[in-house]
Amino acid sequence: MKNIIIHGGIFLLLIFWCLAFIFGCKKDNSTAPNSSTAVSVSAKDYLNSSNYDKLVIQIQYVNGYQPTSGAVDDLKTFLSQRLNKPAGVEVTYSNINSPGRTVYSLDDVKAVESLNRAVKTEGKTITAYVLFLDGDYSQNNGNLKTLGVAYSSSSMVIFEKTLRDLSGGLGQPTLGSVEATVSEHEFGHILGLVNNGTNMTVSHQDEPHGKHCNNSNCLMYYMTETSDMISNLLGNNVPVLDANCINDLKANGGK
Ligand SMILES: [Zn+2]
Ligand SMILES: [Zn+2]
Repeated sequence: MKNIIIHGGIFLLLIFWCLAFIFGCKKDNSTAPNSSTAVSVSAKDYLNSSNYDKLVIQIQYVNGYQPTSGAVDDLKTFLSQRLNKPAGVEVTYSNINSPGRTVYSLDDVKAVESLNRAVKTEGKTITAYVLFLDGDYSQNNGNLKTLGVAYSSSSMVIFEKTLRDLSGGLGQPTLGSVEATVSEHEFGHILGLVNNGTNMTVSHQDEPHGKHCNNSNCLMYYMTETSDMISNLLGNNVPVLDANCINDLKANGGK
């Protein structure tokens, strides 16, 4: 769980809500999107190069809700710095018409992926699917807004409409900085952080808040509700992983 409280003219509470999902359970793919072709992948498969030496990310967006190119570049840089993928990290873009909802459940999200995911993990290439939607999350609760969810071992959704509603205005962070922060935080879960498929080298899990880091300055901290986070985002500085999180990734095959 990661929250940002932004003090503007209106008090807004943004929340990153992240599913704690289980990796490595091969039978789970019976209910996963693209179950006929899905390959079970682990955090280690993303981090090291023994099974896969290349990563291809499908950025899929509803027409009109394409993420900023700067944020996608930032995500690529983040991954290139942490993953051992000597053949590179590539991004493909594809767009879809609106599924026509104002709010989306995770079942809705999975249905969109099942119909539209084009990247398939095979050979030496591992893939990930990132969906940018034109609505809010169905589980939002008042001012608590979910910005993104990593809902499977290789898939995440970003509620791009929500991000746009809460960024870019006077006293608000830029859209690009919020997009980069959310997508990198969610990818951190796919990489097994914190204690989510990648073992901890030292204890630093904020257990009351799930699979998150106990360092309030870390990208994987569940909540930042101080002006520090606000000023960081206002300065377009996306939070970075702290040493404990980086060491976990290194110990599991990353860099
Ligand atoms: Zn999270
Ligand atoms: Zn951390």
